[in-house]
Amino acid sequence: LNARYLAEIAQPSQSLCGKAFNLMVNSGLAIELETTNPAYTDGVGLYRTEFPFIMRSRFPTEQEQIELYRKVLESYPTKPVIMRTLDVGGDKALPYFSIVEENPFLGWRGIRLTLDHPEIFLVQIRAMLKANLAIDNLHILLPMISDLAEVDESLRLIKQASFEVSDELAIELPRPKIGVMIEVPSIMYQLPELARKVDFCSIGTNDLTQYLLAVDRNNPRVASLYDAMHPAVLRALHQFNQQAQGLQFPTSVCGELAGEPAGILLLAAMGYTSFSMNSSNLAKIKWLLRRVELSELALLLPEVLACQSAKQVRQHVQRFLEQKQ
Ligand code: PEP
Ligand code: MG
Repeated sequence: LNARYLAEIAQPSQSLCGKAFNLMVNSGLAIELETTNPAYTDGVGLYRTEFPFIMRSRFPTEQEQIELYRKVLESYPTKPVIMRTLDVGGDKALPYFSIVEENPFLGWRGIRLTLDHPEIFLVQIRAMLKANLAIDNLHILLPMISDLAEVDESLRLIKQASFEVSDELAIELPRPKIGVMIEVPSIMYQLPELARKVDFCSIGTNDLTQYLLAVDRNNPRVASLYDAMHPAVLRALHQFNQQAQGLQFPTSVCGELAGEPAGILLLAAMGYTSFSMNSSNLAKIKWLLRRVELSELALLLPEVLACQSAKQVRQHVQRFLEQKQ
């Protein structure tokens, strides 16, 4: 089966009717990127920076971070690399920075933590900007944004880091594009304001599902309730894309949903065209997209949006998928 998918890995990412898609990879380790041929993807849609922080026994220095980020940026020299600022807290703990909370997923995580510790944020941004100097493919992505003031404060700090680096090296810096993760429901309802402040957004369906359904994504007791195919999640994603398109706000999807056959079909049916996934799913997803027509997806979407349960949604999509296998 894998060989069948891999046979088309070098083909263009487009539907049977010619609609082009942007397929990027998610990664947390530089070594992972080296195993994916950059020629077969459109860049790195999500580089999770937390792993190098988690693997050490102290915060990595600016120099260590520069070297690491440069390796990542250089592995895709002609394509965009979207680097997310540190997203710890929640389920991701740093061994040397203890956080004890009753509700970690609702607590001090992602941008909340780094804005309270601007020294961590500034060092990371400075390292990203320095790593980007001769390459200029860096995009910066802000995780766990739930409020516009967090965007303003992040932009202020990025500007500050940029001034510092520019001053220190006495050169003009390329200005990276800046985006926001859509993973907390509140920010979905502030899209016009958000679109005026930043260059792009990326939907994190893993956390968005968790927060829309109030289901801990790691708690086995409620695992059966955690489903991105829940009709409410799908309607939210559909409405979001309609609004983003109206605002011409560049949007991609980087949660696990985009790497699932049923998920990519529904996202494509909603009109999303830019996706990022684990490299292990890339060949399969490209293969599938190359077999669908937008007109058949347009028929599938209203049926699915009218479903009352995730189970029903899955049955509908499964029937569709079986015709393609
Ligand atoms: C997400 O929440 O969907 C996401 C891509 O980020 P992470 O899984 O790292 O929280
Ligand atoms: Mg997330």
